Amino acid sequence: MTEELRWKTKLSRLVNICMEHGIKIKFKRGVQDVYSPDDKDIVVNSNRTKEFQFYVLLHEFGHYLIDSDPALQKKFEPVSLARKHRLLRDQVLLLEEEVLAWHLGEQTADKYWLSIGPKFRGLKSKCLKAHIKVLTKVHPKKKE
Ligand SMILES: [Zn+2]
Repeated sequence: MTEELRWKTKLSRLVNICMEHGIKIKFKRGVQDVYSPDDKDIVVNSNRTKEFQFYVLLHEFGHYLIDSDPALQKKFEPVSLARKHRLLRDQVLLLEEEVLAWHLGEQTADKYWLSIGPKFRGLKSKCLKAHIKVLTKVHPKKKE
């Protein structure tokens, strides 16, 4: 089995797992990867390799798991409510949610015996770095 076919197989297994949870998956070219709780769907950018799409879907499934847990949903409610996160504490909460979504994605891979490769950590780091970059630009005007 070639590398790409191996990742393609894992990706389709994960798509099935998502569908078992009632999540609709759409693959589109050049879009932003996102999980929409209202529509209960995940959009994945299909421009990248199957391996990256697999990791992105793990992460977005992590967001679904957060959203399905009432305690976590309540904890991260300020993030989902605010359109723009101008407060430092909202940015920190957003980062916390992102870290957790990656963690839950990794746990999902473990649970279903879908092993991940070293590029998972690379992608995770890159995505978290982007969030941290935004976070460091926030200058709290109000008292936190
Ligand atoms: Zn995310």
